[in-house]
Amino acid sequence: MSLYIQKYGGTSVGTLDRIKSVAAHIASTYRQGHSLVVVVSAMGQQTDELLEMALKLSTNPPQREVDMLLSVGERMTMSLLSIALNELKIPTVSFTGSQSGILTDNTFGNARINRILGDRIRRALEDNKLVIVAGFQGMSEQEKEITTLGRGGSDLTAIALTHTLKADRCQIYKDVDGVCSADPRFVSHARVLPAMSWDTLSNLTWYGSGVVHNRGVHLAKKFQIPLEIRSSFNLETHGTMIGSVKPVEKAIVHAITHRKDLAWLRIDMDSSKISEILSYLYTQGEHPLFVQQCSESGKTGVELVVSGGVLPKLEHRLQDLKIPLSVLHTGLICVTAVGDGFWQEPTVIEKALASLQKPTVLFDCKNNVMNMFIQGGHMEEILERLHKAVVE
Ligand code: ASP
Ligand code: MG
Repeated sequence: MSLYIQKYGGTSVGTLDRIKSVAAHIASTYRQGHSLVVVVSAMGQQTDELLEMALKLSTNPPQREVDMLLSVGERMTMSLLSIALNELKIPTVSFTGSQSGILTDNTFGNARINRILGDRIRRALEDNKLVIVAGFQGMSEQEKEITTLGRGGSDLTAIALTHTLKADRCQIYKDVDGVCSADPRFVSHARVLPAMSWDTLSNLTWYGSGVVHNRGVHLAKKFQIPLEIRSSFNLETHGTMIGSVKPVEKAIVHAITHRKDLAWLRIDMDSSKISEILSYLYTQGEHPLFVQQCSESGKTGVELVVSGGVLPKLEHRLQDLKIPLSVLHTGLICVTAVGDGFWQEPTVIEKALASLQKPTVLFDCKNNVMNMFIQGGHMEEILERLHKAVVE
């Protein structure tokens, strides 16, 4: 008998019919004799809808109340799924993040998990119950407030529970067949990759891909937790296995990803203040794609590439701190190739750069990640050409 953690994303449980069909699949795993903990996301786009409601009432709603509101989405799914499984005569119990003992820090909107107690889950499993957990949420350890773990955070819930409960398998069910070599909405020859290392997925999700929550992948890598990323719509497909893969010396590009609407900034400050800026970005669910120290006519500063969307808030924050900010570029696109051995076989670098058909504004290449920042351009065509040049 194995313990499975299964996680179902928003589209997988987007309608009552989807909840019924997911319940049938869960029931069949349970009837094979496995123990199961199922983590769910909010139905469809419900988290966005809840957020919009709050923003209609206030341009700056209190973060505590926003987290309280957003945690409702996952609670709705967990109870509906439990009701559907009950109809199939499966003994279930659903728990919120706080009932599961997911204890976090107090960063509303992007809380970090400090530890997970999991006692109630363990007791329910001992009673042969199938446990359903609301993803994306916890409770702050000191203040006992409801917190959320950052957008897409149900993956993190599932991966962290896999570690805490020492589960045998962690299956992440999605509306796509697995992790692809590029976003299939933009690249016609994108294909599902059967296996991938934690490192590769971690880099892909850091530089743009939303296939799995980046902090979840980071945790999986840290504790060497294998993941199965698979489709809830196409249950015969195996999806992508994330784990250790055999090293090869030949340069390989596994996949490409991208981000758009980026801004390149210079902040005139002593680097001792950098953690203040980075922590602020973290509370906004943001991280820079590039950071360097700079110095101009005796003044030191830091240059960062961040999402353009965070700029107004960051400007405000820096004004309060009386730190000068200059915007060097806006509207940048970053296209990223993730793989291995780029410096061992630099022709791959040459091919990637040639495929852009225009010079980069910034080129940042490590042995396993190549970031090419360009000003404007037709994103789909660029991705199509890059994929053809280095992946196909
Ligand atoms: N419902 C939350 C979101 O949309 C969490 C998740 O989907 O994992 O961000
Ligand atoms: Mg969601």
